[in-house]
Amino acid sequence: MAIERPDLRARIAAQRSQRDAQSSRRFRKQVLRRDGMQCEVAEAGGGTRTLLNFCSNDYLGLSQHFAVVGALQDGAARHGVGSTASHLVCGHHAAHEALERELADWLDVPRALLFGSGYVANLAVLQAFLGDDDLCVQDRLNHASLIDGARLAGCRLRRYPHADVEGALRQLRSVVDGAAMLVTDGVFSMDGDLAPLHDLAVAARVQRALLYVDEAHAIGVLGPDGRGAVAQAGLDLASAPLRLATLGKALGSYGAIVAGEADLVEHLAETARPYVYTTALPPAQALASLAAVKLARQEHWRRERLQDLVQRFRTRAALHDLQLLPSETPIQPVLCGDNAAALAMAAAMEQAGFWIAAIRPPTVSEGQARLRVTVTAAHEPVQVDALVDALARARDQVAGAAASHVA
Ligand SMILES: *Cc1c(COP(=O)(O)O)cnc(C)c1O
Repeated sequence: MAIERPDLRARIAAQRSQRDAQSSRRFRKQVLRRDGMQCEVAEAGGGTRTLLNFCSNDYLGLSQHFAVVGALQDGAARHGVGSTASHLVCGHHAAHEALERELADWLDVPRALLFGSGYVANLAVLQAFLGDDDLCVQDRLNHASLIDGARLAGCRLRRYPHADVEGALRQLRSVVDGAAMLVTDGVFSMDGDLAPLHDLAVAARVQRALLYVDEAHAIGVLGPDGRGAVAQAGLDLASAPLRLATLGKALGSYGAIVAGEADLVEHLAETARPYVYTTALPPAQALASLAAVKLARQEHWRRERLQDLVQRFRTRAALHDLQLLPSETPIQPVLCGDNAAALAMAAAMEQAGFWIAAIRPPTVSEGQARLRVTVTAAHEPVQVDALVDALARARDQVAGAAASHVA
Protein backbone atom coordinates (compact mmCIF):
# COMPACT_ATOMS: atom_id res chain seq x y z
CA MET A 1 0.00 0.00 0.00
CA ALA A 2 1.28 3.47 -0.89
CA ILE A 3 2.20 5.62 2.09
CA GLU A 4 0.30 8.91 2.24
CA ARG A 5 2.69 11.30 3.84
CA PRO A 6 3.49 14.96 3.15
CA ASP A 7 6.70 15.35 1.20
CA LEU A 8 9.15 17.26 3.35
CA ARG A 9 11.20 18.71 0.48
CA ALA A 10 8.10 19.94 -1.34
CA ARG A 11 6.88 21.62 1.83
CA ILE A 12 10.22 23.31 2.42
CA ALA A 13 10.24 24.61 -1.17
CA ALA A 14 6.69 25.97 -0.78
CA GLN A 15 7.63 27.71 2.46
CA ARG A 16 10.63 29.32 0.78
CA SER A 17 8.49 30.63 -2.11
CA GLN A 18 6.15 32.11 0.43
CA ARG A 19 9.02 33.86 2.21
CA ASP A 20 10.19 35.19 -1.16
CA ALA A 21 6.73 36.63 -1.85
CA GLN A 22 6.70 38.32 1.57
CA SER A 23 10.25 39.75 1.31
CA SER A 24 11.08 37.74 4.41
CA ARG A 25 13.96 35.57 3.20
CA ARG A 26 17.16 35.99 5.16
CA PHE A 27 20.69 36.00 3.81
CA ARG A 28 24.02 36.20 5.55
CA LYS A 29 26.63 38.77 4.69
CA GLN A 30 30.20 37.57 4.91
CA VAL A 31 32.72 39.60 6.91
CA LEU A 32 36.22 39.31 5.52
CA ARG A 33 37.96 41.66 7.89
CA ARG A 34 36.99 43.90 10.73
CA ASP A 35 38.65 46.85 12.41
CA GLY A 36 36.35 48.11 15.13
CA MET A 37 33.14 49.15 13.41
CA GLN A 38 34.70 49.15 9.92
CA CYS A 39 33.80 45.86 8.23
CA GLU A 40 35.09 44.64 4.91
CA VAL A 41 32.29 42.47 3.51
CA ALA A 42 31.93 40.24 0.45
CA GLU A 43 29.58 41.54 -2.25
CA ALA A 44 27.04 39.31 -3.96
CA GLY A 45 28.61 39.70 -7.41
CA GLY A 46 32.16 39.13 -6.15
CA GLY A 47 34.43 41.89 -4.91
CA THR A 48 34.38 43.50 -1.50
CA ARG A 49 33.43 46.76 0.12
CA THR A 50 33.86 48.45 3.46
CA LEU A 51 30.81 49.32 5.55
CA LEU A 52 30.50 51.16 8.84
CA ASN A 53 28.67 48.75 11.14
CA PHE A 54 25.68 50.06 13.10
CA CYS A 55 24.05 46.72 13.96
CA SER A 56 26.49 44.82 16.16
CA ASN A 57 25.99 44.24 19.89
CA ASP A 58 29.60 45.11 20.75
CA TYR A 59 28.24 48.00 22.83
CA LEU A 60 31.42 48.75 24.76
CA GLY A 61 33.75 48.07 21.84
CA LEU A 62 35.58 45.31 23.72
CA SER A 63 35.59 42.49 21.15
CA GLN A 64 38.97 43.51 19.65
CA HIS A 65 40.51 45.05 22.78
CA PHE A 66 44.15 44.03 23.02
CA ALA A 67 43.80 42.74 26.59
CA VAL A 68 40.82 40.56 25.63
CA VAL A 69 42.48 39.22 22.48
CA GLY A 70 45.70 38.69 24.41
CA ALA A 71 43.89 36.67 27.08
CA LEU A 72 42.41 34.43 24.39
CA GLN A 73 45.76 33.86 22.70
CA ASP A 74 47.55 33.25 25.95
CA GLY A 75 44.77 30.92 27.14
CA ALA A 76 44.88 28.90 23.93
CA ALA A 77 48.66 28.56 24.19
CA ARG A 78 48.36 27.24 27.74
CA HIS A 79 45.15 25.22 27.63
CA GLY A 80 44.51 24.46 23.95
CA VAL A 81 41.44 25.46 21.99
CA GLY A 82 38.89 23.07 23.49
CA SER A 83 37.73 22.07 26.97
CA THR A 84 37.57 18.40 25.85
CA ALA A 85 34.42 17.45 27.82
CA SER A 86 31.33 18.67 29.65
CA HIS A 87 31.71 20.44 33.01
CA LEU A 88 30.61 17.43 35.05
CA VAL A 89 33.00 15.00 33.34
CA CYS A 90 36.44 16.64 33.01
CA GLY A 91 35.86 19.90 31.10
CA HIS A 92 35.59 22.25 34.09
CA HIS A 93 38.73 24.40 34.27
CA ALA A 94 40.04 26.97 36.71
CA ALA A 95 39.37 29.62 34.03
CA HIS A 96 35.62 28.82 34.12
CA GLU A 97 35.64 28.94 37.89
CA ALA A 98 37.46 32.31 37.93
CA LEU A 99 34.97 33.79 35.46
CA GLU A 100 32.02 32.60 37.54
CA ARG A 101 33.51 34.12 40.67
CA GLU A 102 34.19 37.43 38.92
CA LEU A 103 30.60 37.63 37.67
CA ALA A 104 29.14 36.73 41.07
CA ASP A 105 31.27 39.45 42.62
CA TRP A 106 30.31 42.04 39.98
CA LEU A 107 26.60 41.31 40.22
CA ASP A 108 26.79 40.98 44.01
CA VAL A 109 25.17 37.54 44.16
CA PRO A 110 26.31 34.33 45.88
CA ARG A 111 26.76 32.17 42.80
CA ALA A 112 27.10 32.24 39.02
CA LEU A 113 27.21 29.45 36.43
CA LEU A 114 28.78 29.61 32.96
CA PHE A 115 26.88 28.35 29.90
CA GLY A 116 27.82 27.91 26.25
CA SER A 117 25.49 30.74 25.16
CA GLY A 118 22.56 32.82 26.30
CA TYR A 119 20.20 30.79 24.16
CA VAL A 120 21.29 27.57 25.82
CA ALA A 121 21.23 29.14 29.30
CA ASN A 122 17.60 30.21 28.89
CA LEU A 123 16.63 26.72 27.77
CA ALA A 124 18.43 25.36 30.82
CA VAL A 125 16.82 27.64 33.38
CA LEU A 126 13.24 27.09 32.30
CA GLN A 127 13.67 23.38 31.60
CA ALA A 128 15.33 22.71 34.96
CA PHE A 129 12.83 24.66 37.07
CA LEU A 130 9.46 24.08 35.42
CA GLY A 131 7.47 20.92 34.67
CA ASP A 132 4.17 20.04 32.98
CA ASP A 133 1.91 21.45 35.69
CA ASP A 134 3.84 24.67 36.21
CA LEU A 135 3.33 28.15 34.84
CA CYS A 136 5.65 30.47 32.95
CA VAL A 137 4.40 34.03 32.49
CA GLN A 138 6.28 36.10 29.92
CA ASP A 139 6.24 39.49 28.25
CA ARG A 140 5.00 39.24 24.67
CA LEU A 141 8.26 40.75 23.37
CA ASN A 142 10.59 38.41 25.26
CA HIS A 143 13.51 36.90 23.38
CA ALA A 144 12.83 33.70 21.39
CA SER A 145 15.12 31.65 23.65
CA LEU A 146 12.82 32.30 26.62
CA ILE A 147 9.77 31.16 24.65
CA ASP A 148 11.65 28.08 23.46
CA GLY A 149 12.77 27.35 27.04
CA ALA A 150 9.16 27.29 28.22
CA ARG A 151 8.29 24.96 25.35
CA LEU A 152 11.16 22.65 26.27
CA ALA A 153 9.97 22.64 29.90
CA GLY A 154 6.50 21.56 28.74
CA CYS A 155 4.94 24.00 31.21
CA ARG A 156 1.94 26.25 30.66
CA LEU A 157 3.16 29.38 28.88
CA ARG A 158 1.09 32.56 29.25
CA ARG A 159 2.14 35.84 27.64
CA TYR A 160 1.09 39.34 28.59
CA PRO A 161 1.03 42.56 26.55
CA HIS A 162 4.40 44.29 26.42
CA ALA A 163 5.48 45.80 29.76
CA ASP A 164 1.94 45.42 31.18
CA VAL A 165 2.30 44.58 34.88
CA GLU A 166 -1.48 44.23 35.35
CA GLY A 167 -1.46 41.79 32.45
CA ALA A 168 1.34 39.82 34.12
CA LEU A 169 -0.65 39.66 37.35
CA ARG A 170 -3.75 38.47 35.50
CA GLN A 171 -1.79 35.67 33.87
CA LEU A 172 -0.22 34.66 37.19
CA ARG A 173 -3.66 34.54 38.82
CA SER A 174 -5.06 32.43 35.96
CA VAL A 175 -3.15 29.33 37.09
CA VAL A 176 -2.72 28.81 40.83
CA ASP A 177 -2.04 25.09 41.15
CA GLY A 178 1.52 24.99 39.83
CA ALA A 179 4.86 26.60 40.64
CA ALA A 180 5.35 29.82 38.66
CA MET A 181 8.07 31.91 37.07
CA LEU A 182 7.72 35.48 35.83
CA VAL A 183 10.19 36.01 33.03
CA THR A 184 11.22 39.19 31.25
CA ASP A 185 13.96 40.74 29.16
CA GLY A 186 15.59 43.57 31.17
CA VAL A 187 16.20 45.58 27.98
CA PHE A 188 14.03 44.38 25.09
CA SER A 189 16.27 43.22 22.30
CA MET A 190 14.37 44.62 19.32
CA ASP A 191 12.79 47.72 20.91
CA GLY A 192 15.49 48.81 23.34
CA ASP A 193 13.09 49.82 26.12
CA LEU A 194 13.29 48.69 29.76
CA ALA A 195 11.02 46.26 31.57
CA PRO A 196 9.12 47.73 34.57
CA LEU A 197 11.29 45.62 36.86
CA HIS A 198 10.31 47.20 40.14
CA ASP A 199 6.59 46.55 39.61
CA LEU A 200 7.17 43.12 38.11
CA ALA A 201 9.15 42.17 41.22
CA VAL A 202 6.19 43.19 43.38
CA ALA A 203 3.81 41.17 41.19
CA ALA A 204 6.11 38.14 41.41
CA ARG A 205 6.34 38.45 45.19
CA VAL A 206 2.57 38.63 45.80
CA GLN A 207 1.99 35.72 43.44
CA ARG A 208 4.86 33.64 44.86
CA ALA A 209 6.45 33.46 41.41
CA LEU A 210 10.20 33.37 40.76
CA LEU A 211 11.34 36.44 38.80
CA TYR A 212 13.93 35.70 36.11
CA VAL A 213 15.44 38.65 34.24
CA ASP A 214 17.33 38.30 30.96
CA GLU A 215 20.05 40.98 31.04
CA ALA A 216 21.51 40.17 27.59
CA HIS A 217 21.41 43.81 26.42
CA ALA A 218 21.72 45.43 29.85
CA ILE A 219 24.85 43.86 31.32
CA GLY A 220 27.84 46.16 30.95
CA VAL A 221 25.64 48.96 29.65
CA LEU A 222 23.18 49.94 32.38
CA GLY A 223 23.23 50.39 36.12
CA PRO A 224 26.00 51.17 38.60
CA ASP A 225 29.32 49.76 37.28
CA GLY A 226 27.39 48.30 34.33
CA ARG A 227 25.70 45.72 36.55
CA GLY A 228 22.53 45.79 34.46
CA ALA A 229 18.84 46.61 34.65
CA VAL A 230 18.15 44.76 37.92
CA ALA A 231 20.86 46.80 39.64
CA GLN A 232 19.62 50.01 38.02
CA ALA A 233 16.13 49.28 39.38
CA GLY A 234 17.68 48.78 42.83
CA LEU A 235 16.30 45.26 43.30
CA ASP A 236 17.90 43.02 45.91
CA LEU A 237 18.47 39.28 45.69
CA ALA A 238 15.15 38.44 47.35
CA SER A 239 13.28 40.45 44.69
CA ALA A 240 15.35 39.29 41.73
CA PRO A 241 16.75 35.87 42.67
CA LEU A 242 18.01 34.91 39.22
CA ARG A 243 19.21 36.64 36.05
CA LEU A 244 21.01 35.99 32.81
CA ALA A 245 24.07 37.91 31.66
CA THR A 246 25.40 37.17 28.18
CA LEU A 247 29.08 37.51 27.32
CA GLY A 248 28.64 37.88 23.56
CA LYS A 249 27.19 41.39 23.50
CA ALA A 250 28.57 44.29 25.55
CA LEU A 251 31.40 42.05 26.74
CA GLY A 252 32.46 41.29 23.18
CA SER A 253 33.17 37.61 23.88
CA TYR A 254 31.01 34.47 23.88
CA GLY A 255 28.99 32.48 26.42
CA ALA A 256 26.57 33.40 29.19
CA ILE A 257 26.23 33.41 32.95
CA VAL A 258 23.20 32.63 35.08
CA ALA A 259 23.64 34.36 38.42
CA GLY A 260 21.69 34.49 41.64
CA GLU A 261 20.72 32.45 44.71
CA ALA A 262 23.16 29.64 45.43
CA ASP A 263 20.62 26.82 45.63
CA LEU A 264 18.91 27.82 42.40
CA VAL A 265 22.20 28.00 40.52
CA GLU A 266 23.45 24.73 42.01
CA HIS A 267 20.26 23.01 40.85
CA LEU A 268 21.07 24.09 37.29
CA ALA A 269 24.64 22.80 37.52
CA GLU A 270 23.42 19.37 38.60
CA THR A 271 20.26 18.88 36.60
CA ALA A 272 19.76 21.23 33.64
CA ARG A 273 20.01 19.12 30.48
CA PRO A 274 21.38 22.00 28.33
CA TYR A 275 24.17 22.32 30.91
CA VAL A 276 24.93 18.68 31.59
CA TYR A 277 24.93 17.30 28.06
CA THR A 278 27.19 19.72 26.26
CA THR A 279 30.90 20.47 26.00
CA ALA A 280 32.20 23.22 28.28
CA LEU A 281 33.32 26.45 26.60
CA PRO A 282 37.02 26.58 25.76
CA PRO A 283 38.91 27.77 28.86
CA ALA A 284 40.71 30.33 26.67
CA GLN A 285 37.32 31.87 25.79
CA ALA A 286 36.52 32.09 29.51
CA LEU A 287 39.82 33.91 30.08
CA ALA A 288 38.97 36.37 27.30
CA SER A 289 35.57 36.96 28.93
CA LEU A 290 37.25 37.48 32.29
CA ALA A 291 39.51 40.16 30.80
CA ALA A 292 36.48 41.83 29.18
CA VAL A 293 34.50 41.81 32.44
CA LYS A 294 37.37 43.50 34.27
CA LEU A 295 37.47 46.24 31.63
CA ALA A 296 33.69 46.65 31.66
CA ARG A 297 33.71 47.05 35.45
CA GLN A 298 36.50 49.61 35.49
CA GLU A 299 36.22 51.70 32.36
CA HIS A 300 33.20 53.85 33.06
CA TRP A 301 34.12 56.15 30.20
CA ARG A 302 32.85 53.50 27.77
CA ARG A 303 29.33 53.68 29.23
CA GLU A 304 29.44 57.48 29.39
CA ARG A 305 30.55 57.74 25.77
CA LEU A 306 27.84 55.28 24.76
CA GLN A 307 25.14 57.30 26.51
CA ASP A 308 26.40 60.51 24.87
CA LEU A 309 26.22 58.91 21.44
CA VAL A 310 22.72 57.54 22.10
CA GLN A 311 21.52 61.03 23.02
CA ARG A 312 23.29 62.52 20.01
CA PHE A 313 21.58 60.00 17.73
CA ARG A 314 18.12 60.67 19.18
CA THR A 315 18.45 64.44 19.10
CA ARG A 316 19.59 64.51 15.48
CA ALA A 317 17.03 61.86 14.42
CA ALA A 318 14.25 63.99 15.92
CA LEU A 319 15.37 66.95 13.77
CA HIS A 320 14.92 64.72 10.71
CA ASP A 321 11.56 63.32 11.94
CA LEU A 322 12.84 59.76 11.88
CA GLN A 323 10.37 57.35 13.44
CA LEU A 324 12.08 56.10 16.61
CA LEU A 325 10.84 54.16 19.64
CA PRO A 326 11.03 55.39 23.24
CA SER A 327 14.42 53.81 23.97
CA GLU A 328 17.25 55.31 25.99
CA THR A 329 19.56 52.35 25.40
CA PRO A 330 22.04 51.71 22.55
CA ILE A 331 19.24 49.84 20.70
CA GLN A 332 17.59 52.52 18.53
CA PRO A 333 15.11 50.99 16.06
CA VAL A 334 13.97 53.04 13.05
CA LEU A 335 10.51 51.81 12.02
CA CYS A 336 10.00 51.18 8.29
CA GLY A 337 6.56 49.53 8.03
CA ASP A 338 6.47 46.56 5.71
CA ASN A 339 9.25 44.12 4.90
CA ALA A 340 9.90 45.50 1.43
CA ALA A 341 10.36 49.02 2.81
CA ALA A 342 12.76 47.77 5.47
CA LEU A 343 14.82 45.90 2.88
CA ALA A 344 14.86 48.94 0.58
CA MET A 345 16.02 51.12 3.48
CA ALA A 346 18.77 48.65 4.39
CA ALA A 347 19.90 48.54 0.74
CA ALA A 348 19.94 52.35 0.50
CA MET A 349 22.00 52.52 3.71
CA GLU A 350 24.43 50.00 2.33
CA GLN A 351 24.81 52.14 -0.80
CA ALA A 352 25.68 55.00 1.53
CA GLY A 353 28.32 52.85 3.27
CA PHE A 354 26.42 51.80 6.41
CA TRP A 355 25.55 48.30 7.57
CA ILE A 356 22.22 48.02 9.41
CA ALA A 357 20.34 44.74 9.11
CA ALA A 358 16.58 44.88 8.41
CA ILE A 359 14.67 43.14 11.21
CA ARG A 360 11.43 41.56 10.00
CA PRO A 361 8.73 39.19 11.27
CA PRO A 362 8.75 36.74 12.96
CA THR A 363 11.51 38.47 14.97
CA VAL A 364 9.16 41.48 15.32
CA SER A 365 5.36 41.72 14.81
CA GLU A 366 3.80 42.07 11.35
CA GLY A 367 3.99 45.66 10.06
CA GLN A 368 6.78 46.46 12.56
CA ALA A 369 9.77 45.83 10.27
CA ARG A 370 12.65 48.07 11.19
CA LEU A 371 16.28 48.95 10.91
CA ARG A 372 17.63 48.10 14.34
CA VAL A 373 20.39 50.65 14.79
CA THR A 374 22.86 49.94 17.57
CA VAL A 375 25.28 52.56 18.75
CA THR A 376 28.54 51.57 20.45
CA ALA A 377 31.35 53.21 22.40
CA ALA A 378 33.59 52.47 19.40
CA HIS A 379 31.68 54.90 17.17
CA GLU A 380 32.71 58.53 16.65
CA PRO A 381 30.25 61.43 17.08
CA VAL A 382 30.73 62.43 13.41
CA GLN A 383 29.88 58.88 12.36
CA VAL A 384 26.62 59.03 14.29
CA ASP A 385 25.79 62.36 12.61
CA ALA A 386 26.52 60.91 9.18
CA LEU A 387 24.39 57.87 10.00
CA VAL A 388 21.34 59.95 10.88
CA ASP A 389 21.68 62.11 7.76
CA ALA A 390 21.96 58.98 5.61
CA LEU A 391 18.91 57.45 7.32
CA ALA A 392 16.84 60.52 6.52
CA ARG A 393 17.97 60.46 2.89
CA ALA A 394 17.25 56.72 2.62
CA ARG A 395 13.78 57.21 4.06
CA ASP A 396 13.00 59.98 1.55
CA GLN A 397 14.42 57.92 -1.29
CA VAL A 398 12.34 54.82 -0.39
CA ALA A 399 9.18 56.90 0.13
CA GLY A 400 9.78 58.64 -3.21
CA ALA A 401 10.25 55.32 -5.01
CA ALA A 402 7.03 53.96 -3.46
CA ALA A 403 5.09 57.10 -4.52
CA SER A 404 6.31 56.94 -8.14
CA HIS A 405 5.38 53.24 -8.12
CA VAL A 406 1.78 54.09 -7.22
CA ALA A 407 1.61 56.96 -9.74
C1 LIG B 1 21.07 37.57 22.31
C2 LIG B 1 20.07 37.22 23.35
C3 LIG B 1 20.06 35.97 23.96
C4 LIG B 1 20.95 34.85 23.49
O1 LIG B 1 22.25 35.03 23.89
P1 LIG B 1 23.43 34.36 23.04
O2 LIG B 1 24.58 34.37 23.95
O3 LIG B 1 23.59 35.20 21.82
O4 LIG B 1 22.96 32.97 22.69
C5 LIG B 1 19.17 35.75 24.99
N1 LIG B 1 18.31 36.71 25.38
C6 LIG B 1 18.27 37.92 24.80
C7 LIG B 1 17.30 38.94 25.28
C8 LIG B 1 19.14 38.21 23.75
O5 LIG B 1 19.09 39.39 23.14
